[in-house]
Amino acid sequence: MAGPKGTSEEIKQQLLWVAQESLRTNLVHGTAGNFSARLPDGNVVLTPSSLAYETMTLDDLVVCDLDANVLEGTRHPTTEKALHLACLAAYDDIHAVIHCHAKFCTMFALTHQPIPCAIEEVEVFVGGDVPVANYQFTGSQELADEVSKWVGDRAAVLMANHGLLTVGKTPKDALKIANLVELTAEIIWGARQLGEIQPLPDSTREKMAPIYKMLRGM
Ligand SMILES: [Zn+2]
Repeated sequence: MAGPKGTSEEIKQQLLWVAQESLRTNLVHGTAGNFSARLPDGNVVLTPSSLAYETMTLDDLVVCDLDANVLEGTRHPTTEKALHLACLAAYDDIHAVIHCHAKFCTMFALTHQPIPCAIEEVEVFVGGDVPVANYQFTGSQELADEVSKWVGDRAAVLMANHGLLTVGKTPKDALKIANLVELTAEIIWGARQLGEIQPLPDSTREKMAPIYKMLRGM
């Protein structure tokens, strides 16, 4: 499986940009949310715990190995590090993870409702409905094990009573998915006020389902 694109420095810069862009576009609020990416040497760069994104610099990022040993950085990695490391350890075809509490996604997560794949783009870029992983306590290994199970054939999963997790080949990919899923959650929520959501024809879904698998390299 192809490793991450770019040098270690380029990946760290992209991760920082994605974290700050997520704040600018209201995908995250305050210091919530956390971001990670695999580096060319197989270690993982993560955002630090409870630090303002506006003033975060490359020196604030933390590098860990897949067993969560800190290798670089003076800060503590995000308290959700297990979540990120479990996803990256389980799937060698994905190289970036975003976890956030995006508003509309979290509304679905609180009501344990999957976001239905009623829009073609979602089939192509997410791989189907966005499922709901079972509730586990925040920051726990149990949460990491539970959530990581769901992103084997899907780019996004809701975390029950908590929020959203997305994966991608790069931090920008994972951000694109998070924005797509959040917009879709808002559209589905609004469409339900208007009436019943009509599913995509099966023939369309069958035609499009292989595209995500191909993008993912499955
Ligand atoms: Zn969270």
